[in-house]
Amino acid sequence: MCGVFGIWSHPEAAKLAYLGLHALQHRGQEAAGIVAAGREDARFVRHLGRGLVADVFTEDDLAALGGTHAIGHVRYSTAGGTGTENTQPFSVMTSKGALALAHNGNLVNAKEIRDALEREGAIFSTPGDSEVFVHLLARARAPRLVDRVREAAAQVVGAYTLIVMHDSGMIGVRDPQGFRPLVLGELNGGYVLASETSALELIGAKLIREVKPGEIVSVDQHGVHSERLVHAPDAQPRSCIFELVYFARPDSSIFDTSVYEARVKMGQQLATEQPADADIVVPVPDSGVPAALGFAEASGLPFRHGLLRSHYVGRTFIEPEQSIRHFGVKLKLGPIRAVLEGKRVVVVDDSIVRGTTSRKIVAMLRGAGAKEVHMRISSPPSRYPCFYGIDTPTRAELIAATKSVEEIREFITADSLGYLSESGLHLAAGDPDEERFCNACFTGRYTTGRELIEPRLVQIDGR
Ligand code: AMP
Repeated sequence: MCGVFGIWSHPEAAKLAYLGLHALQHRGQEAAGIVAAGREDARFVRHLGRGLVADVFTEDDLAALGGTHAIGHVRYSTAGGTGTENTQPFSVMTSKGALALAHNGNLVNAKEIRDALEREGAIFSTPGDSEVFVHLLARARAPRLVDRVREAAAQVVGAYTLIVMHDSGMIGVRDPQGFRPLVLGELNGGYVLASETSALELIGAKLIREVKPGEIVSVDQHGVHSERLVHAPDAQPRSCIFELVYFARPDSSIFDTSVYEARVKMGQQLATEQPADADIVVPVPDSGVPAALGFAEASGLPFRHGLLRSHYVGRTFIEPEQSIRHFGVKLKLGPIRAVLEGKRVVVVDDSIVRGTTSRKIVAMLRGAGAKEVHMRISSPPSRYPCFYGIDTPTRAELIAATKSVEEIREFITADSLGYLSESGLHLAAGDPDEERFCNACFTGRYTTGRELIEPRLVQIDGR
């Protein structure tokens, strides 16, 4: 979980990168950074910080970045902990010139590569896996950066959407399976690369197209040029279906699919598979809203806002030790008694991870007078951890890894609980043959075939 953004050839590149990162903020709230280039002094200049985009950059910081090209990154810690030393984009000087790099995804074999490089004397400054790319790029020998990117990519396994900037161009890459999204746009003759179309929309850039799985797109003063990663020409694309379920913004279009429409269809499909005898459909805002609309439409039940989401919850708050129950969830969500009182409620959310939120929501709905609470989830049970960049807890913490649906229902104290089926999810995502998307978090079918040697999995399974 991270967002990447790049803009090539625009007089206000750093400011637009800042805005682009704003529109990708949902992909990572822990830290943000921008590297600017194309300055009069020919330097790459970087500004990074912890926290939200709006807190990391002041107007003066953006003015000091300057330049006509920029790449940016918002970080949601997956591999490598939470220190600032992890913050991207990286900005380094190699024997072949300055490079800046932003990465979204997780590499499955980062540790092996890192160990091998360290044995040869490489010094890493961050614990995460993204820096592996920086080293591989610095060591690659081909004269063209595109070929050095290919050389580096041929050595890694896993999920990587990359933006690499050098003196004379910017490169966008998606791994052969295309786990994470990347789109290409145009703005006043310059080019934009971004994780999601929401970033293009905000800065008024026009979508050209999605970067394809296994594609390297280079942009420079000559325009856009496309090449393939050669090491896996026939790899079956497996984009992350959880991006459509939860992670991406509903106003984005990724994997050539409208996120909003996919979520509505998930809700419609859910209503067909898991109907409920109830009076109203209530979404868990914001993540459950499109699916709840679809559920209401397909079931003929009225859609009602029974839970209000506060948009002013800060990042830190003081929690009273005991006196107020479900305090954390109450800060974020408030029940609307006038809607809920005496009603049989279908409550729709996109996923259950640990189960603690759902349990509190059920209690909150009952506390506000709901007569019955029927929980409906617009994805299958989340049973397996993700190794490709979605931050999921270890198997032991995933409630569906150890409990049956009936046991989960009991834990969250709902009157009934129903999940969308795997085939229903693929159908709603426009993939009826179940061949376009990675669904490993639901099925355990890890598509790179490398996870079994990963130390993290060994630890998770207790082997
Ligand atoms: P939990 O209490 O752990 O079951 O949380 C479930 C809620 O977390 C749901 O409302 C989801 O929308 C949301 N969610 C799902 N996946 C993630 C994730 N990887 N990181 C943060 N929140 C998530």
